[in-house]
Amino acid sequence: YRKTIIAGNWKMHKTATETKRFAERLKGALPRSKRCSIVLCVPYVDIPAAVKLLKDSRVAVGAQNLHWEASGPFTGEISAAMLADLDVKYVIIGHSERRAHFGESDLIINKKIHAALAAGLRPILCVGEDLAQRQLGVTLEFITYQLKAALAGVSPEAMRRVVIAYEPIWAIGTGNTATPEQAGEVCAAIRGVLRKLYGARIARSTTIQYGGSMNETNAEALLHQEDVDGGLIGTAALDPEKFLQIIQTAN
Ligand code: 13P
Repeated sequence: YRKTIIAGNWKMHKTATETKRFAERLKGALPRSKRCSIVLCVPYVDIPAAVKLLKDSRVAVGAQNLHWEASGPFTGEISAAMLADLDVKYVIIGHSERRAHFGESDLIINKKIHAALAAGLRPILCVGEDLAQRQLGVTLEFITYQLKAALAGVSPEAMRRVVIAYEPIWAIGTGNTATPEQAGEVCAAIRGVLRKLYGARIARSTTIQYGGSMNETNAEALLHQEDVDGGLIGTAALDPEKFLQIIQTAN
């Protein structure tokens, strides 16, 4: 069927020293049964520490970005192969913060998806409407457009490694979590788009996460929705106890 994936997105938080402390705590308290997958997407510089400490655990390490070219004169950038070589398994692509603050276009996001897949990484593709789009009633149209653009040229075979995260912009970092019904409705619509693009089998087996002020108190109701297959968690993933509670809920 499909995997529930609980993923943390630390954004620009925690030093390598803080990463070690967090990973030790997390590793020491993980539930033994393995019903959900767990991913921790850390800043680039924290990757070696996270990989080392979580090596023999059920937690996979992810990155939050990459460059779309394999190599070249791109000062300050990091390629998919560099991440794969460090044992990174996942990479967040198309997060609304990167679209908004770093000018990432749909074309760039599409290139990044292809680069991640070519290197054997699993992209976590983020889509989501802003408040105006929701109020104007164009949420589903906008998300359909974002999905089509980001996934252009991605084969059905490669699609099996793609994770989708529905992150309404108005819910990110605001404490204003989408209701379970709102999250469920859009995640179901996303699955409908995938069905049209890739067929029922792939649509059914794709993990679709919700993200946006998900925490240890609201996770259960959100994850209870039929089409919500996990979470992409920012703020609550910075605290190992809260992150562990969410894992426990999904487990
Ligand atoms: P918050 O959980 O802090 O709202 O962040 C969500 C997010 O953007 C995860 O990628």
